[in-house]
Amino acid sequence: MKIEILAVGSELLTPFFLDTNSLYLTQRLNDLGLDVSKKIVVGDDRDNLLNCIQAALAEADLLLIMGGLGPTGDDITRDVCAEALGKKLVFREDILQKIEERFKRRGRDMPLSNTKQAYIIEGAEAFENKNGTAPGQWLVQGQTRVVLLPGPPRELKPMFEAGIWPKLQEWQKGTMVRKTLKITGLTESEVEGCISGLYPASRDLRLTILASPGQIEIHLTSFATEDWGVAELKIESLALEIGRQLEDHIFSSSGEELEAVVGRLLGEQKRTLATAESCTGGLLAARITNVPGSSEYFLEGFITYSNRAKNLRLDVPLELITSHGAVSYEAARAMAEGVRAKAEADFGLAVTGIAGPTGGTPEKPVGLVYTALAWDGGVDVEKNLFLGQREQVKFQSSQKALDMLRRVLQKTERMS
Ligand code: ATP
Ligand code: MG
Repeated sequence: MKIEILAVGSELLTPFFLDTNSLYLTQRLNDLGLDVSKKIVVGDDRDNLLNCIQAALAEADLLLIMGGLGPTGDDITRDVCAEALGKKLVFREDILQKIEERFKRRGRDMPLSNTKQAYIIEGAEAFENKNGTAPGQWLVQGQTRVVLLPGPPRELKPMFEAGIWPKLQEWQKGTMVRKTLKITGLTESEVEGCISGLYPASRDLRLTILASPGQIEIHLTSFATEDWGVAELKIESLALEIGRQLEDHIFSSSGEELEAVVGRLLGEQKRTLATAESCTGGLLAARITNVPGSSEYFLEGFITYSNRAKNLRLDVPLELITSHGAVSYEAARAMAEGVRAKAEADFGLAVTGIAGPTGGTPEKPVGLVYTALAWDGGVDVEKNLFLGQREQVKFQSSQKALDMLRRVLQKTERMS
């Protein structure tokens, strides 16, 4: 079963446009348990396009071609595809009427150039474009099913869903179920080490690790020809095994971001939060407030960049900063306690560190970050050494702070 995607458009070969349609199509094909074997981006060039289509016809079982179905001179996909297939284009009065009506609804006459969009490759089935003028097409030549789709995503997606998807579904019976486990607090190699024995042997069940600083994702996909329940059962039992190995390092198995998990727990427990940030410069508060409904539990956030601000806003004693430094266990602790008291919150979360690339010393290198959490159970302070660029250090700092809070909240949840 070979599937190829061909994206047509010279703009897709510039640094300004990305072929996102193929990502979307790949996702939808994967949902049917189908894999894409090749993707090609080709400019609006006759010979190039002809070669690409001919090569694909020789090997693909399904060829999805998109873009270049417009009315202008550089839109050549329809013509070239017909040529590659050795077929004529046939004029369809009913399609022309639909296009004309579309213009009339907007009080305009159809430009003559749009007439060419009413031509369909001989023997092809046409799909109405509810969001544009170019119809889609589907035909079978030898062992290859050829699909033509418009380039603009807002035209391609609805057409694919309404016209193409049901055909493919009929053709390929089966279901795909996905699950994403999100992990923090472990490195990629630690995660690998924990789950190395769990890589599934069957092609129907797949496990992929996606690592970025501060967060590892395990993507699971399960395919079953029987039905949805079978795929679901297989994926859940694998997820359970992984959960046994990684335990509470997994913060989400439903796709939730860490700030959303923390937000949900705070809401459920009816507890409030305030933040004090130095090196993250508001990123922590921004992430917390990205979650809808965060006003339920988030009271306020301070960005206390200078020593004086830490003293003025959070009552961190200046002598403490002079003797230990602004990036220190003591300062982080005092910031968390200070913001908790000032905001009268249940939790005070604080971050102070050196995001770099400058400002590091041998004793306090770039990436040294203290995160602290104050609550009625006491104060936790963690010393972290993060690797990476400034932005990555900032993200990992916010991630660590949120994770400290998550762990305390989940402990409470388990005890109640
Ligand atoms: P139109 O009638 O708009 O000309 P068309 O089918 O000829 O439709 P194109 O001219 O190829 O489509 O593309 C129109 C626009 O659609 C492009 O400028 C681009 O923004 C977007 N587009 C085209 N192909 C893709 C793709 N593969 N992924 C994402 N966007 C795309
Ligand atoms: Mg075009």
